[in-house]
Amino acid sequence: MDDELLRAAEAARGFMPPDEGLALHDAALAAGRGAAAGGPFLEIGAYCGKSGLYLGAAAAAAGTVLFSLDHHRGSEENQAGWEHHESDLVDPAIGRMDTLPVFRRTVFDAGLEDVVVAVVGESATVGRFWTSPLTLLFIDGGHGSEPAHRDYETWTPHVAPGGTLAIHDVFPDPADGGRPPYEIYLRALDDGFTETGATGSLRVLQRPA
Ligand code: SAH
Ligand code: MG
Repeated sequence: MDDELLRAAEAARGFMPPDEGLALHDAALAAGRGAAAGGPFLEIGAYCGKSGLYLGAAAAAAGTVLFSLDHHRGSEENQAGWEHHESDLVDPAIGRMDTLPVFRRTVFDAGLEDVVVAVVGESATVGRFWTSPLTLLFIDGGHGSEPAHRDYETWTPHVAPGGTLAIHDVFPDPADGGRPPYEIYLRALDDGFTETGATGSLRVLQRPA
């Protein structure tokens, strides 16, 4: 990954350790050269753009784009009083979170506006009307049981044959974190995806061609 972009990704706000970010970048590069090359990448869970830079850099290298989907109102665990709340991300005029301005700034500063396309909305709503086969899908949206399983059901069918599915915050040991991302990872294995990589809590899988 380009040095300047790598530094920008590491400095960006968000929830992705550098080794997992690089692994995500490498998985996207491989997807962009693999059996399902040619389609777009899509991530669920943009937040402030950190994973978007790792994926966006790979999309640029692959000559494709990253659709970065988020309603930008935060997940349950980002709300006031919860573990991952950052109070400066609240829009004081409405008292709700708004990560879109920070996201846009992150992408602009990295010079990736041509490649990283913000899709602002509820995942299930966008998914209802989505039709393009995906070269890569990264699931890192709502981590509760309902949203995680719904994202899996909504979006996984759009992964092209031979395409890549990455899932974040997969914790086989319940002591390390919540279950739903791990549960959808198990569903993917059950549905015939094969695991091609594991770094920290990141899992990379491939749909059979
Ligand atoms: N990938 C990001 C972190 C994502 S945090 C990074 O690298 O830092 C999870 C994000 O999912 C939050 O920004 C939240 O707003 C979004 N989200 C949660 N549920 C959602 C839903 N149902 N539709 C769209 N976005 C959702
Ligand atoms: Mg995550």
